[in-house]
Amino acid sequence: MNAADLPAREAMEFDVVIVGAGPAGLAAAIRLKQLAPDTSVVVVEKGSEVGAHILSGAVIDPIGLDRLLPEWRKEDTPVRTPVSSDRFYVLGSSGAVRLPNVFMPPLMSNHGNFIVSLGDVCRYLGRKAEALGVEIYPGFAAAETLFENGAVAGIATGDMGIGKAGGNKASFTRGMELRAKYTLFAEGARGSLSKMLIERFTLHRNRQPQKYGIGLKELWQVTPENFRKGLVQHTMGWPLANNTGGGSFLYHYADNLVSVGFVVHLNYQNPYLSPFEEFQRFKTHPLVRETFAGGKRICYGARAITEGGWQSVPKLTFAGGALIGCAAGFMNLPRIKGSHNAMLSGMLAAEHVVTALAAGRAHDELADYDAAWRGSPIGHDLWRVRNAKPLWSKLGTVAGVALGALDMWTNTIGFSFLGTLKHGKPDFATLKPAADCRPIAYPKPDGKLTFDRLSSVYLSNTNHEEDQPPHLIVRDPALQKASEHDVYGGPSARYCPAGVYEWVEDEALPRFQINAQNCVHCKTCDIKDPAQNIDWVVPEGGGGPNYPNM
Ligand SMILES: Cc1cc2nc3c(=O)[nH]c(=O)nc-3n(C[C@H](O)[C@H](O)[C@H](O)COP(=O)(O)OP(=O)(O)OC[C@H]3O[C@@H](n4cnc5c(N)ncnc54)[C@H](O)[C@@H]3O)c2cc1C
Ligand code: SF4
Repeated sequence: MNAADLPAREAMEFDVVIVGAGPAGLAAAIRLKQLAPDTSVVVVEKGSEVGAHILSGAVIDPIGLDRLLPEWRKEDTPVRTPVSSDRFYVLGSSGAVRLPNVFMPPLMSNHGNFIVSLGDVCRYLGRKAEALGVEIYPGFAAAETLFENGAVAGIATGDMGIGKAGGNKASFTRGMELRAKYTLFAEGARGSLSKMLIERFTLHRNRQPQKYGIGLKELWQVTPENFRKGLVQHTMGWPLANNTGGGSFLYHYADNLVSVGFVVHLNYQNPYLSPFEEFQRFKTHPLVRETFAGGKRICYGARAITEGGWQSVPKLTFAGGALIGCAAGFMNLPRIKGSHNAMLSGMLAAEHVVTALAAGRAHDELADYDAAWRGSPIGHDLWRVRNAKPLWSKLGTVAGVALGALDMWTNTIGFSFLGTLKHGKPDFATLKPAADCRPIAYPKPDGKLTFDRLSSVYLSNTNHEEDQPPHLIVRDPALQKASEHDVYGGPSARYCPAGVYEWVEDEALPRFQINAQNCVHCKTCDIKDPAQNIDWVVPEGGGGPNYPNM
């Protein structure tokens, strides 16, 4: 059925619509209601519940929570494990060198921070928002941005009950229009509507390309002997080669829980590299493998992170709306922290929305919000680390991180010898042809410490309605074969952390098979496909991972 034949959508009017119930969206919603209780605010969330799609480390800097909810320290919250020990190692294949904390730039210190499940923190923020009168609609994906006279006028949720081939099923339900004076996009890294808005309003003009990493994480219940409550440990080096950026995190929190994760920068060059297998290999290092002995892996997932920082943050505003949180790229890469800036940016945008509404404005540009962030604590946080990522990309891990640390030191005092460095190519353009690279032989999983993709995805509780239109759109199948398969040797089968993509070779022509129901919504394919030929769009609301506490 084409759009003209569909029944009209029901429309609801709000002052503010927020897309995404992560830390950015929920902080914005809470701030709006704190400042102007009569403002009508709705948040749509594509996960089946608040927190279901949130995957993070996470060691959080409480600056966001302190400013948003100063009472939180007196309440029963999921923020219960203060960091008690902070260690940083450089790994070789069998040994490890600990970097003394005194050498680390002070901004890297985790003193005063907390280890949490960010999903649980979002559930807490969701309850706070609802208590203030915010309407939250989990299970509803914002599939389309609405425009009126060139300005954003809200969003439409996706139609439900459409079959694979495009026909309506008995369960067909038309999406809803949620119209608003201002719409805040808080979709996180590589948001699908945010990506279109950045293009449409050329918000990336005069900015460096956004850079990304893929973060993979497992949650383990470890034995009491292996548990060190409050320990935060980061590594870089092995198993990654010097020219591939990334590293690990390991956080001990709550009751015998350990979050272990691995980030690979998506500007890697070798199409044979598999971030998933690098993560599995990392866990076998003598420094960490004993942590998991006798323990049980209880959850798995993956999500892209933004790494471009200061130089890559796009213009934040356009008529009728704004980007907040990681949709705008406020992640601080060396600190591996973005949730505090997500919250601060949500609050900052909310404050400008309240001023605009009070002045009787609607559907115009919140230019003051865009002008304010660089002078705010978010700008201060990102400015001091702005050269860390470009140096890492250009000089490799050993020299790049050392020089990056020096630059962070001088920036702490207030200057940099290097000015502001550029990032270079976007991540989709960094792969070398497969013919110029060496395949990487990864060890087989043992099923105890290391695992395969499918048993891992099982632990993400991922579920999609199977009979629905594809949400991974290959724009030109012939180009996919000519580029991704013929030149780069099919890297999607390796970069996808959920085994969604396969090149099936046992036929006359290689066939690109897409097991979309396994997708954990990490967005890596949308970022890394070398021809930018794969578009990630939202599936039916409620589909995707169901992370209980990631
Ligand atoms: C592996 C990893 C480790 C990390 N470690 C840390 C850490 O230790 N400390 C830290 O501070 N930060 C860490 N971060 C970064 C941190 O998680 C992010 O900065 C933060 O989550 C960004 O918040 P956000 O609200 O902008 O986006 P997100 O947290 O990504 O939330 C976006 C929400 O919007 C929803 N959504 C997206 N699109 C739509 C749509 N179209 N319709 C409806 N809903 C939609 C999503 O389902 C999601 O719930 C880490 C990230 C990763 C991946
Ligand atoms: S299909 Fe794309 S978004 Fe989904 S899990 Fe794989 S790489 Fe991530």
